[in-house]
Amino acid sequence: MKAAFWAAALAAVSCAPAQAQPQTDWSKVEIKTTDLGHGVYLLGWQGGDSLLLVGDDGVLLVDTSVAQMGEKIKAAAGKVSNKPIKLVINTHAHADHFGSNELMAKGGAIIVAHDGLRERLAKGQYLAAFNQTIPPSPAGALPAITYAEAMTLYFDGETIELFHPPNAHTDNDTLVHFKRANVIHASGTFGGDGNYPFFDSSSGGSLAGMIGAEEKMLSLADDKTWIIADEGEPAGTAALRATHDMLVTVRARVQKLIDDGKSEAEAVAAKPTKDLDAKWVHGAFLTGDVITRLAYQSLKGITPPATR
Ligand SMILES: [Zn+2]
Repeated sequence: MKAAFWAAALAAVSCAPAQAQPQTDWSKVEIKTTDLGHGVYLLGWQGGDSLLLVGDDGVLLVDTSVAQMGEKIKAAAGKVSNKPIKLVINTHAHADHFGSNELMAKGGAIIVAHDGLRERLAKGQYLAAFNQTIPPSPAGALPAITYAEAMTLYFDGETIELFHPPNAHTDNDTLVHFKRANVIHASGTFGGDGNYPFFDSSSGGSLAGMIGAEEKMLSLADDKTWIIADEGEPAGTAALRATHDMLVTVRARVQKLIDDGKSEAEAVAAKPTKDLDAKWVHGAFLTGDVITRLAYQSLKGITPPATR
């Protein structure tokens, strides 16, 4: 695949790292806090949205955004709790999800994540999807506790289940299920605001893994569950099911084109998502053509280069 495609595809995805968005003036980005009940709050801004769980034990934070947002996150947490941030969960190793790790750890937080996230942070990464090189993180930013498949945390009367869906948005995603509050953070496996969801095959993500992650969340959810994408308003289970069903449709249609011997260009020209685009395209980059290319490459096992 052409590196240029990946570079062009990145700029408007919800997970686009700060370095890929030089136009972002972080000093002007404000956090919108939404109370989801049972001590869980959504902190929303441009990409990399976080969750808080607050109570007598302190504060648990899901995702730390970019480094420029760290003090704002602490201030937002301070408005709903006077307790320190004691636990941090990173949902995946895109730069807008772990950038303030070191700040939180210096404040006493223990960081929890999937094994693969710690490895990627420790080694540094080249993400072809973002045409971005992320240097190794300092030791203080690395998770202190990691897991392989699943883990359960108990905090402030809440049970928080962590699940790793293999090769979904990345190869190191964590789905975070707050059981009492009935909230699931989807990592990047669910597109915010009704967009086609993005998966980063340069980080080990795949279309099949996205569908698998969504099926896992559907198995946990009921009709009152909040589903949290990494950007946008909280969604319900119906929106998650609709996304899942759409991806299953896209997979079947693109697989048919592959089975018919079509090249990637021919598959794109066939417009297999034509009747879906009006519902699922809300920005300039994750268009029907782009999701078709991503699906084609993923189903054919084509992955971007691991180095620049
Ligand atoms: Zn991401």
